Amino acid sequence: MIILNVLIEHVIYAINRPFSYVYTGKETPKVGERIQVTFHNSQVVGYITEVLEVDKTKSEYEEELGYQLFEANNLLDNEPILTSELRLVANEISKYYLAPLISVYQAMLPPSLKPTSSSMKKAKIAYDIYLRVISEDESNLTPKQIELLRLLKGSSEVKKNEIKSVSILKKLIANKNVEEYKVEKRRYSFTDIKEFKELTLTNDQRNVKDEFLNTNDLVYLLEGVTGSGKTEVYISLVKEIVSQGKTALILVPEINLTPVMMQRFYHLFKDKVAILHSELTSGEKYDEYRKILNGDIQVVIGTRSAVFAPLNNIGIIILDEEHVESYKQENIPCYHAKDVAIMRAKHFENCKVLLGSATPTLESEARALKGVYHHLKLLKRINERELPETEIINLQDYRNIDYASSIFSKRLRAAIKETLDKKEQVVLLLNRRGYSTSVLCRECGHVIKCPDCDIPLVYHSFDHMLKCHNCGHVEEQAHQCPECGSKYLSRIGFGSEKIEEEIRKLFPTASVLRLDSDVGKVKNNIATTLKAFANHEADILIGTQMIAKGHDFPDVTLVGLVLADLGLSLPSARSSERTFQLITQAIGRAGRGEKKGRAIIQTYMPTHYSIVYGAKQDYMGFYKEEIRIRKLQQNPPYTFASTITITSKNEDLVNQVAYTTLDLVLREGEGKIIGVGPSSPYVKKDVLGYRRVCMFKYKDQDKFKEIMQNIINILSKKNGISIKIDIDALDI
Ligand code: ADP
Ligand code: ZN
Ligand code: ZN
Repeated sequence: MIILNVLIEHVIYAINRPFSYVYTGKETPKVGERIQVTFHNSQVVGYITEVLEVDKTKSEYEEELGYQLFEANNLLDNEPILTSELRLVANEISKYYLAPLISVYQAMLPPSLKPTSSSMKKAKIAYDIYLRVISEDESNLTPKQIELLRLLKGSSEVKKNEIKSVSILKKLIANKNVEEYKVEKRRYSFTDIKEFKELTLTNDQRNVKDEFLNTNDLVYLLEGVTGSGKTEVYISLVKEIVSQGKTALILVPEINLTPVMMQRFYHLFKDKVAILHSELTSGEKYDEYRKILNGDIQVVIGTRSAVFAPLNNIGIIILDEEHVESYKQENIPCYHAKDVAIMRAKHFENCKVLLGSATPTLESEARALKGVYHHLKLLKRINERELPETEIINLQDYRNIDYASSIFSKRLRAAIKETLDKKEQVVLLLNRRGYSTSVLCRECGHVIKCPDCDIPLVYHSFDHMLKCHNCGHVEEQAHQCPECGSKYLSRIGFGSEKIEEEIRKLFPTASVLRLDSDVGKVKNNIATTLKAFANHEADILIGTQMIAKGHDFPDVTLVGLVLADLGLSLPSARSSERTFQLITQAIGRAGRGEKKGRAIIQTYMPTHYSIVYGAKQDYMGFYKEEIRIRKLQQNPPYTFASTITITSKNEDLVNQVAYTTLDLVLREGEGKIIGVGPSSPYVKKDVLGYRRVCMFKYKDQDKFKEIMQNIINILSKKNGISIKIDIDALDI
């Protein structure tokens, strides 16, 4: 008899272990295949982790166990859905992040292959139907049929749907003159093809390349100022490594950076490049995944989850803009693509991880300085192009502002005008979308807040709705204060929509584009906007942090940061780092072409070190100051930080569990409590629930995880409670 040990699809700590089923089916089940099983009286999808041959009958075996086993015979795959290497990585991720193993498998696989019930309804393999002639015998055929037969004979690779005379074709097939055959289809096709001329690497670029190839380390940090030509180094390295018969995995932090990267690599590798990101349809994802799995692909480009691409024989994994926080997943499993990349690299012979950034995270830089990562540097822009000249405008100084605008200083307005007069382009950045930041009642002071998150709702002028930027809650703006009934409601603060409105008023003849995640709600909108701006189809681009990263706009000579200290008001150990990164990256968009660029930084905090060093593009200056503060406050990288989020419909239970957790951590003596959020209500599927976040920092990662595992064991026996553990949390 065969016993299958199966993980159940539900991501719940309490069932984070295999369950046994008896298998009596015909095909041979294999570890790594999916199977339908009965669990708590319902049909769910399971993932086989073990296949056991048992020398007993079912009843003997059940007697030994003391309970009855269900049968499960409906295998859902013919082959394991993950490579053995990815199965090992899944185990490591599950251990490191304390995440249920099944959640890791689910994160790794495309929708059609996930071990979940919903995968059953997702795209299957698509085929193209082709025609071929199998008999040239023309007897019994009408002239029309002969005509088509001869046409088919004379052409190769004819698709069935290309033939218009369907009924004649049917006759030829019935008459065994022609047969159909199927070929797996690749639903995704890259159409935005552009030719690039080969560039010769500069000396600096070549040195970096040679040092990478001629040394034997696992992780490399390429610290290169904006515009120093990091992309060209990636391309050259990938070319070299692929020519040695290996494959390459390239990660970018955001979908809107994939087309540009894709263009650069498609040009060289054609249909040997695959792309993986969330805007592909599930059919496209499935096809790309299978292509990679089958070994047809040399280079994969994608966002965070592409780190799980089933490539074999990987020689290089690149994380471009390694500092960007979207590389960390916020849901279980809360993995960071960088750590997964390193785990994967260890499984391949001589596979290296290359992290690239102009503003590396403090963690990465500290490791590079200590020699844990191999430190590579590109300190100059290509062709010795100068970094933009920058100017900080103090918004507290009334002399900088006049009646014409409360948002744009005199200096920034003048600079925009000069730039437009020279027919050059302007980028304006404000890291806040929407129109106003809150709606306030002038009678009673009430601020309209999200019913779920208790944070102010943001007014959006485009659709006249109030929106929560945390959970996505949307409501119509009321005409009266919900507290006192007053009609005097004011919109306070400003976001990117307001900036756009103001700019159109100030510069009525300029053409303006805006880019933020609202614009991005329509598929391809972002790509179209970026392309239009890069082609100089508009004079001014307004946007959130989305426009600060990676893009190469050669005609941009002015970058304006409308309110640079916005992020500093958010309480986080990382707010200075985030602010510095944003300023540096944004300024880096200016002066990348022939003409010199400049940047104007408006702020209420002109002396804050993240702004001063950001303006100077002085990464090392910033690093030294920030690392000193991190050390003083014992924040990462001097400690580790993690959070646990406790959720339940029962508020008392949430509080009780939060305090038990804190108590346990304190008692074990490893880990400081750095914060306990309030118990906050939220609504999911019309049910009211509560959640609390507890934040910890600690020195001993293993010891702390032991404590957490203990907590998981205790909590998973409690009903009505769910937890999320975020190891190495970014939000602290
Ligand atoms: P980074 O990613 O470091 O900000 P990019 O890779 O976007 O920089 O390069 C900046 C600009 O320099 C691009 O326009 C690119 O085409 C150009 N460039 C890069 N390498 C070379 C080279 N070897 N010769 C000429 N131009 C180059
Ligand atoms: Zn009121
Ligand atoms: Zn909300």
